[in-house]
Amino acid sequence: MNKSIFQIIYSFAVLLIVPILIAFNTLLLASGVRDNHDKELQSRAELANSVFALSVQDFLVNDQPAEAAQKISAISAAQAELQDTAIIVKSDDGYEVFASEEEFELSSSDLLQFDIVFTRKWPVAKSVLARTADGSRGRAWNVASPILDSEQRVLGIVTSNYLTADIDEKFDSTLDRSMIVMVVSVIAVSILLFNHFKFIGYADLLRKQKEVNQTMNDFLSVASHELKAPMSIIKGYISNVTEGTFGEVLPKVKEQLEVAESQTDRLNELVQDLLNVSRIQQGKIKVEIKPVNVTEIINMIVKQYGPQAKEKNISITFEESKTPLWVMGDPGRIQEIFTNLIDNAVKYSVRGQVTVYVKQNSKHRTFAVRDTGIGMSAHERERLFQRFYRVKNSKTKEISGTGLGLWIIKQYIEKMGGKITVDSLEGTGSEFQVSLPATEQPSEVPKQ
Ligand code: ADP
Repeated sequence: MNKSIFQIIYSFAVLLIVPILIAFNTLLLASGVRDNHDKELQSRAELANSVFALSVQDFLVNDQPAEAAQKISAISAAQAELQDTAIIVKSDDGYEVFASEEEFELSSSDLLQFDIVFTRKWPVAKSVLARTADGSRGRAWNVASPILDSEQRVLGIVTSNYLTADIDEKFDSTLDRSMIVMVVSVIAVSILLFNHFKFIGYADLLRKQKEVNQTMNDFLSVASHELKAPMSIIKGYISNVTEGTFGEVLPKVKEQLEVAESQTDRLNELVQDLLNVSRIQQGKIKVEIKPVNVTEIINMIVKQYGPQAKEKNISITFEESKTPLWVMGDPGRIQEIFTNLIDNAVKYSVRGQVTVYVKQNSKHRTFAVRDTGIGMSAHERERLFQRFYRVKNSKTKEISGTGLGLWIIKQYIEKMGGKITVDSLEGTGSEFQVSLPATEQPSEVPKQ
């Protein structure tokens, strides 16, 4: 059977069975407790009746019905739950009342009960509905006990009703409370189980998502690796032809080949970005932390971008500090970070100024790359460091890119214990700030 169908059936079964078991168990317990409670009342009634039978033995031997009636009244007054007490003796045509508190009528079920008591010489109890103190009818144990003489002959019978209505009421209210507790427990357990299965579902979803991510990473890694080699070969062949290795090239052909070369460069960048993303996601990215002279790196990049910026009428400057500034980081990654930021500043500006400057110089050194370019809205700014995010509007339509650069450099910066932030105003310009842990110039300058 399909694993997930099995899981669904299992979840439903547990969701139904556990609450039903709790309810069933409580009801079973309640009925057991009720039975015990009833037996306990029956024994109490039998005991009370038998004790009374012993105490009236002499009245029968001495034939004193008036004294016996007095005793019955006394016991009824002392024990409210004892009612309808009478002493019965055998007569020629069955049974007759020897003494009772009030008028006492013998019923047919009493006669049968008395016959048993006479033959067995043992108390016999039956459950009946009897008159209660407030005049209504309530449950009672009716007991008939033998009055025995010294030779164990039955002189007569004492019959009485032991009212259980009051005790029953208290017992029922306790039972009602435990039923409420049971219902609340069943609801609570059902909710807990439901959430438990929901969480199992989430965990399963997370596992599947991880598998999909892994497959995507594997694909990215293989695809970008496989693309890299043929692209360098294509670029190599194009360069050979344009440089005239195979003879003179007509200017028109050269023009076409240069376009092909620049498009190959773009593809190369994309493949490199994808490779980096895949490495970062697999945790394979390494940063080698050591003292780095950031001033030197930025100077080099600014110089490199000078001609490209000039073509767009953009002046690019680095307001460097008098002393070289050193940070702890990976020189290769730091170069990638500032190349990306300066490249973007030039790419997303039509004209104007790109300025790199030192914004803060304390425990962390903050370098800012400011431009007077197209800028972006607050909403766009929030999503800027997400993978594959690119601002889409008429100004960015013609500008090529992957939307991966900022995400990649953010991962590098964070791995080096730094931070990247952005300020931007749509139509006015942007400023990216990169903070990295500061360090002093080492006595021995490391190789960069
Ligand atoms: P790419 O430039 O390859 O699209 P990035 O991750 O470097 O990818 O940048 C993501 C997006 O952020 C860009 O597509 C662009 O819309 C916006 N962006 C980045 N730098 C700037 C900038 N200096 N000025 C305006 N927009 C920028």
